[in-house]
Amino acid sequence: MKKAGCMIGLIVYLFLVGLVLGSFYNVVGLRIPAGQSIIHPRSFCPSCLRTIRIWELIPVCSYIWQKGKCRGCDVRIPLLYPSLELIHGLLFVLAFQLFGWSGETIVAWTLLALLTVIVASDLGYMLIPNKILLFFLPVFVIERIFVPLQPWWSGIAGACISFFFLFMIAILSKGGIGGGDVKLFALLGFVLGIKGVLLAFFLASFLGTVFGVGGIIAGAMKRQSAIPFGPFIALGTIISYFFEPNVLRYYFLLFP
Ligand SMILES: [Zn+2]
Repeated sequence: MKKAGCMIGLIVYLFLVGLVLGSFYNVVGLRIPAGQSIIHPRSFCPSCLRTIRIWELIPVCSYIWQKGKCRGCDVRIPLLYPSLELIHGLLFVLAFQLFGWSGETIVAWTLLALLTVIVASDLGYMLIPNKILLFFLPVFVIERIFVPLQPWWSGIAGACISFFFLFMIAILSKGGIGGGDVKLFALLGFVLGIKGVLLAFFLASFLGTVFGVGGIIAGAMKRQSAIPFGPFIALGTIISYFFEPNVLRYYFLLFP
């Protein structure tokens, strides 16, 4: 009984840590592409430039208390921010549930950090900055030395294969996917390995296509409107990384 209580306490604690980190990654994703420092100045409202108080920075809760508006000028705060915080918090806990006290949990948390920053940046600016990828590359290299994939060379092969594969698509599609996407997939290939990254790419393209076609049918988008690919890459990667054996099992059930 006491053990179960401890476990629930730990999960609540991890969820709160995940919310706070998610909020921080949001800020990083919005400030790095704009060339701003991630520490200074304190967060401010982009509309009325009012500095946001500490107690207005509580993830998700502040958004609900303030009914999604800035206290200074009543401008709407995009639902994107609390949503990303919440999703990050939930996945942060899920990673621990799946991998427990193993090194892979650290890899998963780093992966979630990368993806949250990328989604914020890509939705905000349609950009996946090199600075972000170059920051995460050495971190993942060190982590994969201590927590290797099976077989160990799968990450290196995954990085090379996804780089050349995506590079070819970028050339053939004449900019249908950006250089940032190509480099991001190379990095993901290193973390997920060959099988994982190919599945992530398949899922990202599939989900992006469904969303794009759905948007055109619903009349919300024009055929030419550019959709940031980042969120779909993040979604495909998460499904592949967290649920790969299951996804493949369902796939073979549907298409034996
Ligand atoms: Zn404001």
